[in-house]
Parts: sequence; structure tokens; C-alpha cells
Amino acid sequence: MKIIMLGAPGAGKGTQAKMIADKYGIPHISTGDIFRANIKNGTELGKKAKTYMDQGLLVPDELVVDLVADRVVQDDCKNGYVLDGFPRTIPQAEALDAALGKMGAKIDFAIDVDVPDENIITRMSGRRACVACGATYHIVNIPTKVEGICDRCGAELILRDDDKPETVKKRLAVYHEQTQPLIDYYTKQGCLVDVDGTQDMADVFAAIVKILGA
Ligand code: ADP
Ligand code: AMP
Repeated sequence: MKIIMLGAPGAGKGTQAKMIADKYGIPHISTGDIFRANIKNGTELGKKAKTYMDQGLLVPDELVVDLVADRVVQDDCKNGYVLDGFPRTIPQAEALDAALGKMGAKIDFAIDVDVPDENIITRMSGRRACVACGATYHIVNIPTKVEGICDRCGAELILRDDDKPETVKKRLAVYHEQTQPLIDYYTKQGCLVDVDGTQDMADVFAAIVKILGA
């Protein structure tokens, strides 16, 4: 099963993608996590990506497309995967379709996690992320057992630089301009499904499982 998560920054794509990956035994591929790992390790890619990410802008397509094209042909992707944060532009979606087309494959579901802009700023300012294992929490909605410490791996949690309110506003504008058109793109392909992302995390997941099948 090949799945794409769509939705505004902070809509809960990563949260749901991890649950989908666990339930269906497929890898969770987050381009944001890949960039953050590169930044942490001080790679050339990380240095380039950071200049865009810190401003709330998208990293240029040419730095993302090959990275994903190489990732989805790896062995652990044979039974599918859940892409989180990619594609984010029409050219990225077209490049993904071209890469899949060569393998005679296609996207099965593009899941749009729908959350209005008003809810996003609160979600993002409360988000705490673990750079060590990629887990995500929320100080009010999804708290950790010990404040500031990842439940899963025990590392210290951070407030992402790009989750500050000024940057979130920019990211939302970029989302509406460059990423939202993908809703139309996948509707035309007949694989778009929509879930109400304002519900409780468990209820959002139940809605997704209903669509994907148990
Ligand atoms: P995205 O991957 O779309 O940027 P995240 O999955 O990181 O979003 O979620 C953004 C923030 O909102 C996180 O702090 C997360 O814990 C919280 N969150 C995720 N899903 C829900 C939900 N259904 N209700 C309330 N808060 C949520
Ligand atoms: P995310 O963790 O998905 O919220 O991504 C964090 C940031 O990484 C984004 O705001 C972008 O700057 C960058 N990024 C992640 N995925 C992509 C992508 N597919 N295309 C361009 N930039 C991306």
C-alpha cells in the first residue's frame, strides 16, 4: 500500500503516518525528518536545507526529488510506504508519478488531514519533537510521561525553530500557495481521501483505518 499524507504543517500528518506505519508494517518516510537528521549530522544537504527551513520556505525540488526516488526503491519499500511531507509541490508529485510509472506502480491513497489555519498555530507552538527518534508530542494534547523527555527513547525534546509563530504563518502561506493544489491533483487521479484532523488523534486514526481497511 503506497500512501501520501497531505495537509497543512501541524495538521497531524506525522502523528498519523507513524501509526499507519506501525499498524500496516510499512516504512514511514518523512522528508522533514530526513532533513533534520542531515542538519544534526552537519551534512552538505543539511546545511543547504536549513537555510530554507529556518525561513519557513520549501527546500528546492531538486534537493528533495532524488532523495525520495532513491528511498522508495529500497528493499523495505516492496510492500509500500507512507510518505509524510512529500510531495509538497506539483513538480514533486509529477516526479514521483514518473518514478512510480517506471516500476508500473501508483499511489493508492492520498490522505488529506484537514485542519483549519486557526487551530494550527496552537498545535505548532505546543509541539515538542524528538530529534533522536522522530517522535512528536504536544505539551497539552499529547504530553510525555516526564516533561521534556521522549517516552520512546529517553532523549531530550526540542521546540523546532520553524515552529515559532512568525515562521508558522509563513509556512501556512507557503502551504496554501504551493502544496494545497495537490488536493486537486490527487482528486483527479481518483485516490484522494479526506479526514477531519480536528478530532482526537485516536478518532482521526480510526477514520483512516476505515478507509485503508483493517
Ligand atoms: P505534521 O506532521 O502535519 O506537521 P504533527 O503530526 O507533528 O503534524 O502534529 C502537530 C502537533 O499537533 C504535534 O504537537 C502533535 O502532537 C499534535 N497533534 C497531532 N494530532 C493531533 C490531534 N488529532 N489533536 C490534537 N493535537 C494533535
Ligand atoms: P515537516 O517536518 O514536514 O514539517 O518539514 C519541515 C520543513 O522541511 C519544511 O517546512 C520544508 O522547509 C522542508 N521540507 C520537508 N519536506 C519537503 C518537501 N517535500 N519539499 C520541500 N521542502 C520540504
